[in-house]
This record gives sequence, C-alpha cells and structure tokens, in this order.
Amino acid sequence: MKWPAMGYLRATSLPDLWSALAQHGASAQIIAGGQTLLATLAFRLSEPSVLVDIIRIPELRGVSVTGGALRIGALTRHAELGRDALVRAHAPLLTEAVPLIAHPAIRNRGTIGGSLAYADPAAELPACIVALDAVVVTASAAGERRIPARDFFTDLLQTALHPGEIIAGVEIPLAARHSAIQEIARRSGDYAMAGLAAALRLEAGCVVAPRLVYFGVGNGPVLAAHASAALEGRPLDAGSIAAAQEALGEDLDPPQDLHGPPDMKRHLARVLTARVLGSFLAPKEMAA
Ligand SMILES: Cc1cc2nc3c(=O)[nH]c(=O)nc-3n(C[C@H](O)[C@H](O)[C@H](O)COP(=O)(O)OP(=O)(O)OC[C@H]3O[C@@H](n4cnc5c(N)ncnc54)[C@H](O)[C@@H]3O)c2cc1C
Repeated sequence: MKWPAMGYLRATSLPDLWSALAQHGASAQIIAGGQTLLATLAFRLSEPSVLVDIIRIPELRGVSVTGGALRIGALTRHAELGRDALVRAHAPLLTEAVPLIAHPAIRNRGTIGGSLAYADPAAELPACIVALDAVVVTASAAGERRIPARDFFTDLLQTALHPGEIIAGVEIPLAARHSAIQEIARRSGDYAMAGLAAALRLEAGCVVAPRLVYFGVGNGPVLAAHASAALEGRPLDAGSIAAAQEALGEDLDPPQDLHGPPDMKRHLARVLTARVLGSFLAPKEMAA
C-alpha cells in the first residue's frame, strides 16, 4: 500500500515542537528514525495529517552522566548506543543488546526513544531498561515527568505517555551489577521468539536485587517477580537457578503468536533463564 497523503514539518527545538503539536493537535504524529513508523503508515495503521520530525532537536540528543545516573537522549540511535563509551561503562546490558536489534541499516536510523515509544513486546530495549530499573523522562509543553520503566509499558504497544507528550530520554542509576541479555530468534536480526534481559548483584556469593525481564512472551516486557524472588538472598547455583525456572510458571502467561503456542514460549523462557543466569557463574560452578 502507499502512504496516506500528509504534511511534513521538521521541528528544530522543543518550543518549535510544542507549537507544531498545538497547531495540528491529535492528527499530528511525531517521527524519529522512521524505522517502524514508515512501515505502519504503508499499512495504513495510522493516518496522521502531518508528520512532525524531531530528529534535529538538540535537547533530545546526547549521552551523559549526571546526578548519579546515565542519561541517554531519546534520539540516540541504536548504532550510537552500541558504540558509546559511557553506555559500555555504566549500562553494558544496552551495549550487549544492540547487535540483537534488527540489522545494521535499521540500527543506523532507529532511536531508543522510538523503540520505547512503540513498545513492541519482542523488542530488546524496553526489557533492558526495566531490568536496569531506569526512569523514562518525558517532556511536553507542560514540562517533564519521570516514570519508572516498570510502569511505563502499560499493555500491547501501549505506554504511559499522555497525548502531546514525548520521550525525552532515559535515566539509568549508576550501580555495579551483573547483567546479560540473550534471545532466541528464527534468524539473526529477527524479532525474538523469546528473550531475557537480567540484572543482579552478587554480594558474598548471594544474589541481591535480581531483575529478570522477559520479552516476546507477553504484552510488553515482563518483570518476573516470582522468579526474581526465588533468587533473592540465595547463592547463585544450580539449585537457585532451578528454583527460578520453577517459579517462572507464576510469572508468565504468554499469548499464542506467529512464533508458536504458549507452552513453547514457556519452555524457551526456562531455557533462557538457565543460559543467562549460568553466564554469571564461573566455568567451574557451571560444570558442577
Ligand atoms: C525490518 C525491521 C526489523 C526490526 N527488528 C527489530 C528488533 O529485532 N528489535 C527491536 O527492538 N526493534 C526492531 N525494529 C524496530 C527498530 O529497531 C526501531 O527501534 C523502531 O522502529 C523505533 O525507532 P524509530 O526511531 O525508527 O521510531 P519511529 O519509527 O520514528 O517511530 C515509532 C513510533 O514511536 C513514536 N516515537 C518516536 N520517537 C518518539 C519519542 N521520542 N517520544 C514519543 N514517541 C516517539 C512515533 O510517533 C511512532 O509512533 C525493527 C524494524 C524493522 C523495520
């Protein structure tokens, strides 16, 4: 299908954006990297009267460390995220996630803000920011809001963004932690059939503040409360990993999708649990 007829505006500052949105109201839609939006327009899943391009707004760019957090601007492209030294130092989970996202051409244009706003349940970055206990910073003509990532994804392709509000960036607490992401996909670059992004601390050999976040198995990133609780305070070993796998039954209720039935997704999630948690163990412990 062809795109609907529509106007195009480029905002070059936030005040510029607020006046464009005020002028065009709910019929305007913002575009960042365009890597999802252009496809959805071709399928006529939305028919805006005008696209407002935000990619040149400097306030939404940049990666910095401020106030005890790593701040990543919404317009940071996936490829930039993957090679950023501050991200690698303070949130290596994101560095590890980037090669799993689509293909280089898409990573060169897609932005973290677009990925979080679109909220695809099989996307890597939403799961990572929940695992990292990040805060989503939003902006609108009325000012900024800070929303914990775990509350930001509200349902299938739905977020806590209000009309007229955009994602300005994310803030990730600077905390020493172990983290890892793995997924199972049919082909390299495909969306995941199932994936797991995990973060935890190991203190005196015991697990502290584990956050196991599954993707591709629900209506959004699933922070597995029972599986995480099964690990809390225990040594990370075959026994606690098996307990987390068992408890996962309480956390996941995967829908049937193009990839397969719920039981298959549950099985993949259990496999990923062992793989990701096993990656935090020394080789000798894994063999035990
Ligand atoms: C073939 C293909 C394969 C892909 N595979 C994967 C994959 O494996 N994993 C994955 O995670 N992603 C995948 N993607 C998605 C892609 O990586 C981008 O992350 C995604 O398209 C969003 O980024 P964008 O900047 O292009 O957003 P756009 O396409 O410009 O916008 C997407 C939506 O977000 C809104 N939006 C954009 N920026 C903001 C903002 N700052 N605030 C509020 N709303 C905003 C737009 O209005 C629109 O509704 C794939 C895309 C394609 C085309």
